Amino acid sequence: MPPAQLDRTHAADARSWVESANDAASDFPIQNLPFGVFRPRGGDARIGVAIGDRVLDLRAVVGSCAIEFFMKPESEALGAACGADALNSLMALGSESAHALRVAIFDALSTDAPQAVQSALSDSLHPIGEVELLVPSRVGDYTDFYASIHHATNVGSMFRPDNPLLPNYKYVPIGYHGRASSIVPSGSPVRRPHGQTRDDASAPPSFGPSKRMDYELEVGIFVGKGNPLGDPIPIGEAWEHIFGLALVNDWSARDLQAWEYQPLGPFLAKNFATTVGGWVVTRDALAPFRAPAFARGDDDPAPLPYLSDSADQSAGGFAVTLEVWLSSDRMRAEGAKPVRLSRASFTGMYWTPAQLIAHHASSGCNLRPGDLLASGTVSGPAKDERGCMLELAWRGTEPVALPTGETRRFLEDGDEVVLRGYCERPGARRIGFGECRGIVTSAPPGSGRRP
Ligand code: CA
Repeated sequence: MPPAQLDRTHAADARSWVESANDAASDFPIQNLPFGVFRPRGGDARIGVAIGDRVLDLRAVVGSCAIEFFMKPESEALGAACGADALNSLMALGSESAHALRVAIFDALSTDAPQAVQSALSDSLHPIGEVELLVPSRVGDYTDFYASIHHATNVGSMFRPDNPLLPNYKYVPIGYHGRASSIVPSGSPVRRPHGQTRDDASAPPSFGPSKRMDYELEVGIFVGKGNPLGDPIPIGEAWEHIFGLALVNDWSARDLQAWEYQPLGPFLAKNFATTVGGWVVTRDALAPFRAPAFARGDDDPAPLPYLSDSADQSAGGFAVTLEVWLSSDRMRAEGAKPVRLSRASFTGMYWTPAQLIAHHASSGCNLRPGDLLASGTVSGPAKDERGCMLELAWRGTEPVALPTGETRRFLEDGDEVVLRGYCERPGARRIGFGECRGIVTSAPPGSGRRP
């Protein structure tokens, strides 16, 4: 893994001619430039870059010939990738291309850009509130990890108070292969699933709407350049395969999960919806916010050699602050503001993104551009750092109070969950991830059988 390369695109005092990007509270200053896929009103899907309260339409930019960079023969593949309706082709081009594109967009949106460029690009900007954000890539495969030791310890201690962490946890990045077909964009309603549950251990299970629906605050890693089947990714090169990070909500039905998970792990409890935030914050944009890997205690084993890299240990983490916000139907009806349920740092994860990638490919499994690897629930050691309701309300025994007097043990219909993420550090410009939003709607009528 190379050291963090900071360049003019990270300068804290850089400003954009898109005035809203210079607002200190904006998630999308010119130092960020996250990629997404959007549909303007009445238009089709295309790639965009968020800047302030606008989205820059990359297909239109390339078509306008306003930026000299896209005219160069060596930029032909990049220009074609920018004209696609998903980020896979762009992700496949690798980190050097992504960096060159970032610099070109930065220069074109900077206050130093020629007036002709500013005028031409003005026509390619859409108000961010008026576009529909889609899932950023065509996710061929989705894997969900379990990389927060705080989450794993909390959940483990509910079920095994004397032995919360299983013996493999500190050696193997635990994960399961998830479902790509039910990945939905931020803003999509999420229907409460039906499923098989067993409340009474002495009685047979029943089938019906989940009574223990939950969210999970996670970070998604979008794979850039992939690896051929049979060729593992060495830990020292895993860094090159991270295109960027995005917010992920891994919706979970705890009652289905408790009954079905043994012996093969999560299945229907996790496959009814996974919401992905609309903006992929690139590895380059995150360079000022790199952090050391988790500080393992003296009694912890060192990572096995195939997961051990000194540069990854010193700077393979990302200092992203992550938050969960909730509003109920009644809160919105009464005009109450959403409440923050938790706030935790992504630096508290036991495994770095590079370790997750190296481990995933260590069997020879091929990762492909646009694949999604989610971190697992991001929790910290404190109560207000617990990244799902199962932990926060401690399996229903410590209900969460809402400003209306309502309480929550799990999610109710009408509850809206919003995830947010941002990076802040002295000397660097704050950047954010936008939001990952979803509202729980009622289960389909009936028992799931045809009448
Ligand atoms: Ca999860």
